[in-house]
Amino acid sequence: MSDTNSSPLITGRCYCGASTISANARPSAIAYCHCADCRRVTGAPVSAFVAFDADAVTISSAVLQEVTANPGVTRTFCGSCGSPIAGSYDYLPGQTYISLGLLDQIDALSPQMHAHDEARPDWLCIKDDLPRFSSSSRDKLKEQSS
Ligand SMILES: [Zn+2]
Ligand SMILES: [Zn+2]
Repeated sequence: MSDTNSSPLITGRCYCGASTISANARPSAIAYCHCADCRRVTGAPVSAFVAFDADAVTISSAVLQEVTANPGVTRTFCGSCGSPIAGSYDYLPGQTYISLGLLDQIDALSPQMHAHDEARPDWLCIKDDLPRFSSSSRDKLKEQSS
């Protein structure tokens, strides 16, 4: 059981500060995602996300905006500044994916894998020895969340 008086393990916020994130458990996975959807959601050539049990994450905001552009995928944005806050996927039930770049503890949250590596632009070189999945890393993510 988590102690409600203790400070959360992981905290974060959007660009404008209207939306905040806290988590009271370690993430189940941390991954880069090179897919075109994540590029468009973030506006960046690569995104990275942190997977949590949905129960472990609290998103506090009066202005959250949910967008579903693809069936089964819900992306949540700060309705004030537009920062991409979270994603949830019907095929990964019970998990919430938080944008890594929003988190205060980013130095301690290094990615463990690359998802959709085949969609990575040729000029984008991230030099590491992490496993690279040519498509979704959903099987790996499911494995780590169970
Ligand atoms: Zn904001
Ligand atoms: Zn993606």
